Amino acid sequence: MNYRTNYKSCPLCESLSFYPIYKGDCSKHILYKKDLPPIMQWMECGECKHHFIEGYFNEEGIKKVFSNTHENQKIGYQIEQQRMVSSRIVNKVIPFKNSGIWLDIGFGDGALLFTAQEYGFKCIGTDLREENVKIMKNLGFETYCENIENINFNNKISVVSMMDVLEHVPYPKTMLNIVSNILEENGIIVISMPNIESILWKIMSQNNKNPYLGEIEHYHNFSRTRLYKLLNDFSIEPIHYGISERYRACMEIIAKKI
Ligand SMILES: [Zn+2]
Repeated sequence: MNYRTNYKSCPLCESLSFYPIYKGDCSKHILYKKDLPPIMQWMECGECKHHFIEGYFNEEGIKKVFSNTHENQKIGYQIEQQRMVSSRIVNKVIPFKNSGIWLDIGFGDGALLFTAQEYGFKCIGTDLREENVKIMKNLGFETYCENIENINFNNKISVVSMMDVLEHVPYPKTMLNIVSNILEENGIIVISMPNIESILWKIMSQNNKNPYLGEIEHYHNFSRTRLYKLLNDFSIEPIHYGISERYRACMEIIAKKI
């Protein structure tokens, strides 16, 4: 059984020139299942220098990897600490947008939606884990177990958050295109992911202790430079660089739809 589909071109710039750059081992990952390829081969694009996995999971692969949920992806995980972390994210958004609809793509433990709601936003969430979607619905949230391209939003969205999401998507441009279309003018995007340009990333790699190289659910390793360029391609302008408190070596960008 083949669980991954290899990229035929760079998923960001479509260049056909790309080559292996480093490897990771996901066989010790908590979501690893027997038969899945244990080695993760990362590629670098010769054109735009983006780093991406050789192949993303096909339907069979997704079924295997998603068959259980990581403790920290469960609703209400460390809810009090996560409420504080989330409040600092919402506080970064408030100067630019303090009301309206907040869409959290891949809401995971739900903490950001809980917190944005406390601040007065009308909250909508998507997640690919059915159980999480059900629990959030029971708590009164509008939630979908769907890719955003399959959802019809009746109103324009004021804030879209994608916390540690874009690196999980085979083709990030598809998602950013939709996000750009559903956002109101001057709408705000919050986006976080590991930053391969951080010194911490480099030190972890040098010491053979970079957890992201074997992060089974990741397809992309972004640099701040490449992410900014990509956002600009979709009329999304970064307005604030920050460091994420959620995961190691991560950046947290506030950007505006122009
Ligand atoms: Zn490229």
